[in-house]
Amino acid sequence: MQDQRLKIAIQKSGRLSEPSIGLLRKCDIAFDNGAGKLRSTAYDFPLEILFLRDDDIPQYIEDGVADAGIVGQNILAESDCRLEPVEMLGFGRCRLCLAVPRGFEYRTLTDLAGKRIATSYPKILNTFLAKKGVDADIHSISGSVEIAPSIGVADAICDLVSSGSTLLTNGLREAETIMESEAVLAARRGLDGPAKQILSRLLFRIRSVNAARDNKYILLNVPNEKIAEIQKLLPGMKSPTVMPLAIGGWSSIHSVISEHDFWNVVEQLKAAGAEGILVVSIDQMIL
Ligand code: ATP
Ligand code: MG
Repeated sequence: MQDQRLKIAIQKSGRLSEPSIGLLRKCDIAFDNGAGKLRSTAYDFPLEILFLRDDDIPQYIEDGVADAGIVGQNILAESDCRLEPVEMLGFGRCRLCLAVPRGFEYRTLTDLAGKRIATSYPKILNTFLAKKGVDADIHSISGSVEIAPSIGVADAICDLVSSGSTLLTNGLREAETIMESEAVLAARRGLDGPAKQILSRLLFRIRSVNAARDNKYILLNVPNEKIAEIQKLLPGMKSPTVMPLAIGGWSSIHSVISEHDFWNVVEQLKAAGAEGILVVSIDQMIL
């Protein structure tokens, strides 16, 4: 039956395409994504993947064409669809900012009162300005927002920024951050039946992959008298594994450490007498 599959929409081509496909592949879901394809059926998981423009994804989910999708929080917030944000995915990070030409003397938000602001995010911007009590003239345009001030159609812009280099090239500087965004797995509210079950299975895999991405497996040799001290540096999932080495007086310790403070921990381990430190990537981490 057709509905025995979960239909998931991802961006066809753009910043979220590659990481979205990569995430599904890391979940061991195999599918073709040949150029020009609009949909693809996974071989070994009950999933159908739809490749769409990111702006269209929320509406397709709400209309039932797809059950779930991967989009930026910015797209969810701008859309009128009430979807359920199921899981933050940690990629596609950016922020929605107000930016002004370098010559614009910006001190506070009220400097934008009465000004023309170009954006592809009129709803978010309007809500933000209304909350701050600033009345500006919002110009809704669908692309190339960053050139609006230089061609004279706006005094300021509200657009997505990650490194800020696009702003710089266009003679703009950031004035305010309106929202932070990252990619999110979102689903139709009230999803039930097989689709809901498949979504839970997919979510389980996504969480395992993302937990693994944030952690490393570490193996090291330590003199026995240092075990207690070194254990304190390695909390592990439950507690570290300690095994005797073939030569007397030494043990091998295995543990899982967070990717974030990984170099810090390795330095402390070395200082505490650890030797032969091996650090290995983890494919999946089932919690
Ligand atoms: P589509 O053709 O699918 O409508 P698009 O041009 O609207 O594509 P992209 O530029 O590919 O969209 O951006 C997709 C998403 O990537 C954004 O909605 C946002 O969530 C995220 N993103 C991350 N960094 C940036 C950035 N620097 N600029 C724009 N979007 C970014
Ligand atoms: Mg778009």
